[in-house]
Amino acid sequence: MEAFLLRVFLQQIHGWVNCFGISGGRIPMKERTLAIIKPDGVGRKLVGEVVKRLETAGFDIVAMKKIRMTKGQAKGFYRVHKGKPFYESVTDFMSSGPCIVMILEGEDVIARYRKLMGATDFLKAEEGTIRRAFATDIEKNIVHGSDGAETAAFEIGYFFSELEAVG
Ligand code: ATP
Ligand code: MG
Repeated sequence: MEAFLLRVFLQQIHGWVNCFGISGGRIPMKERTLAIIKPDGVGRKLVGEVVKRLETAGFDIVAMKKIRMTKGQAKGFYRVHKGKPFYESVTDFMSSGPCIVMILEGEDVIARYRKLMGATDFLKAEEGTIRRAFATDIEKNIVHGSDGAETAAFEIGYFFSELEAVG
């Protein structure tokens, strides 16, 4: 528990430092993020392709498992989107089959992994990104990544116990 709280605390400080422009956003610091290979990626047997890109990018896979969310669990996970037009559909999709959930670790991994995923809409994603390469739809976009330090702490805790997140 202490290790988890310390990590959340350090991620928060890192966020504040960046926020006040003290570091110009350039303090190299290891952080963690939650990555998911969504049901379309698992169903299309793209797990190996995605994992290869994560490892090539230099991220450490601290923990990894296959899960299948219920509709209720998917709604809890994407609760920030409650009320949006795509909320029902995306939570149906996320509970439609198994996912691979992972904790990634590395310097600036939250932003770097978001960049590697590419834009939500694969048609707007840059060349070389995972979504550009494999997504077929704005919803069925293969991968998920936390969008900030607080979100990462919540999302990691949603799927992994402290014992599983050993590194
Ligand atoms: P994620 O949170 O899955 O990493 P993201 O941060 O790029 O994706 P969000 O805005 O958080 O995008 O949306 C969460 C997910 O909801 C998207 O990845 C996609 O699967 C789905 N989604 C988002 N916008 C739309 C939309 N306009 N229509 C259909 N589905 C959408
Ligand atoms: Mg998001």
